[in-house]
Order: sequence, then C-alpha cells, then structure tokens
Amino acid sequence: MSGKRKIAIIVRHETSQKCIGKGCLRAFNSFEDSFERYHGEDIELVAFCDDGGVTDDPIENLKARIEQFKKYGVNTVHVSTCNRAKNPNYETMLALLAEEFEVVGYTHGSAKRKLSSETQPGDEEHNKL
Ligand code: SF4
Repeated sequence: MSGKRKIAIIVRHETSQKCIGKGCLRAFNSFEDSFERYHGEDIELVAFCDDGGVTDDPIENLKARIEQFKKYGVNTVHVSTCNRAKNPNYETMLALLAEEFEVVGYTHGSAKRKLSSETQPGDEEHNKL
C-alpha cells in the first residue's frame, strides 16, 4: 500500500459491554498477531468502534460505520476476534467491508478461526465471555 495505512478496528457490540479492547490494542501497539503484517509500514489507528449489535437490521448499522470510515480515510478494517467467534453476521460483514477496504478477519490471537464453544488459549478476554 502506498501512503499511510489507516486502520479501523470494529468489535462486537455485545462483547464491548464487558471488554475494553485490551487484547485488540495490545496486538495493534506491539505489531503482533493480525497486525504483525504491518512491520515497517506507517500505520495509524483511526477508529475503534463496535458494530452496533445484533438488531433488526445489523447491516444498516454496518453501512453507517462504513460511511464514517470512508469519511476519515480508513483504508484497512480489522474485524475483531470476538466478532469472528460469536457474530452470526461475521461473513456478511467481511463481504460488505471488502467492497470498500482491505479487510482482515481478526485482531488478536490465532489466525485460525475457532468456534465460540472452543477455548482460545492465551485469550483470557474470550474465555470470560
Ligand atoms: S477481540 Fe478480544 S480484546 Fe478485542 S474487543 Fe473482542 S474480546 Fe475484547
């Protein structure tokens, strides 16, 4: 990517009621896990927000986020590991976001997707949910 990589992290609304995002931000700040790929790049965290939750129309919530991301120059979106584990709309989110941005489907922990019923060693935030 030429120019600055402007990143948004979008977390699961229901999880954000219990989690302050420590795992996501630790990974971002230390170039670990899903952010390891950006070593040597000029990166900026532009947005850290939730997905609006599972409502009657969660896709409308996501579309509103997308418009805000575009307004502030986001070019890369990381969908959080908690969304990957527990959001029934995860695949739809990835597809919609990919129409506008580079998309990475997790933030911290393993690159391999795990089901919500599986434990995620080292991810204490997830084990509490
Ligand atoms: S991915 Fe982990 S650290 Fe980030 S918001 Fe979800 S539970 Fe919290």
